[in-house]
Amino acid sequence: MNSTFNQGGSVETNKRPWPITSTYSRRDKIDTNPDFQRPAVWTRAQKQLLIDTIIRGYDIPKLYWRKNGIKYEVVDGQQRLRAIWEFIEGKFGLPKNADLVGKYEIASMKYHELPDEILTEFETYPLDIVVLQEADEEEVREMFLRLQNGTTLKAQEKRNAMPGNMRNFVKSLVEHPFFLSIGFKNSRYAFDHVAAQMTLIEIEGTPCNIKDSNLNSMYEKHKKFDINGAIAKKTQRVLNFLKRAFPDKTPELHRYNVVSLYALVSHLLESYAVSDRYSEISKWFINFETWRREELKHPQDQCDAEVVIYHEKTSHSTDASDSISWRHQYLMRKLFESIPNIELKDSQRSFTNEQKLAIFRRDDSLCQVKIKCKGLKCNWDNWEADHKISWSNGGKTIVENGQVSCIECNRAKGKN
Ligand SMILES: [Zn+2]
Repeated sequence: MNSTFNQGGSVETNKRPWPITSTYSRRDKIDTNPDFQRPAVWTRAQKQLLIDTIIRGYDIPKLYWRKNGIKYEVVDGQQRLRAIWEFIEGKFGLPKNADLVGKYEIASMKYHELPDEILTEFETYPLDIVVLQEADEEEVREMFLRLQNGTTLKAQEKRNAMPGNMRNFVKSLVEHPFFLSIGFKNSRYAFDHVAAQMTLIEIEGTPCNIKDSNLNSMYEKHKKFDINGAIAKKTQRVLNFLKRAFPDKTPELHRYNVVSLYALVSHLLESYAVSDRYSEISKWFINFETWRREELKHPQDQCDAEVVIYHEKTSHSTDASDSISWRHQYLMRKLFESIPNIELKDSQRSFTNEQKLAIFRRDDSLCQVKIKCKGLKCNWDNWEADHKISWSNGGKTIVENGQVSCIECNRAKGKN
């Protein structure tokens, strides 16, 4: 693992065991909540299991830290470290049903109640810590994502060695000028990896699993991929659009959002009349990222709840279909909220589900028609998306012209 990180990059690493007590005595210098991660909080049972594992002398996975000046930032292993420190501080005890360790009873015991022999074992237990020296933010983030997703750094390298049209096609995408605009480096074939993920989303026609195993089967299955076919052309169109939207290097285009942005634009170009609206879309995206970064500076309980979820979903299992789909829906809704006059390509009378969701959230689920009610709170299964200016009077099927109506008001309006 050590040597893999070193290869081709400037990341210097060193690995050495730290006794648990050394991490605790230096805890002021160790940041367990750096910006690039905010993982789910561990349950008490998870914490107890870790302590039990340590006391019994079993192995636990390596921790990854980044040296930043005189401080350390925990890249991977934050929950483990916090659990260990909380245990030392007496914040929880071992499980009631914990087995003996040798002849020693440990069930329900807190740190200070443990027999000396066990305490010594615990305090001197060596944590394997890999310290990354001089790694930049993007490299650390990349490494963090790889660790969280359980992918190996060699996966894309292996795919690049698989002969066939898919390999050639993905390689050709990386040459697209859009890749000069993205905010991260092409270290360890990051661009090839992203281009392969974009291609898979285009083939599936919808956000889907884009893990290494899915990419591998795509390279296998599409060895005879038509590099002049419809999918290849669509991929080019999306990248052309993205290049027009982001002509210059854009630091906001990160490893964790560029595939989502691709899926969003691909979907828009498919169904909505947006081909000349690239500058509005790029403005929206930059504003969204700025707002999101500001939100994340607040303590978690004062932060926009969806921003917290979005952040989690860009930090863990980012290549799993449910994460990709959630982010896609969220970004589509945010886009519609911000640019409510995006029209469908072919004029259509009913609102799409994603337009409806944007309307529902914007109106806070309250009936706006108020013929029969005084602004009834509707639930998702029981409301109508009403055209403010009716369809028959030339009102468009756009979010701007939509409003929440309760069933009764909608019926009453229909009779007028
Ligand atoms: Zn109503």
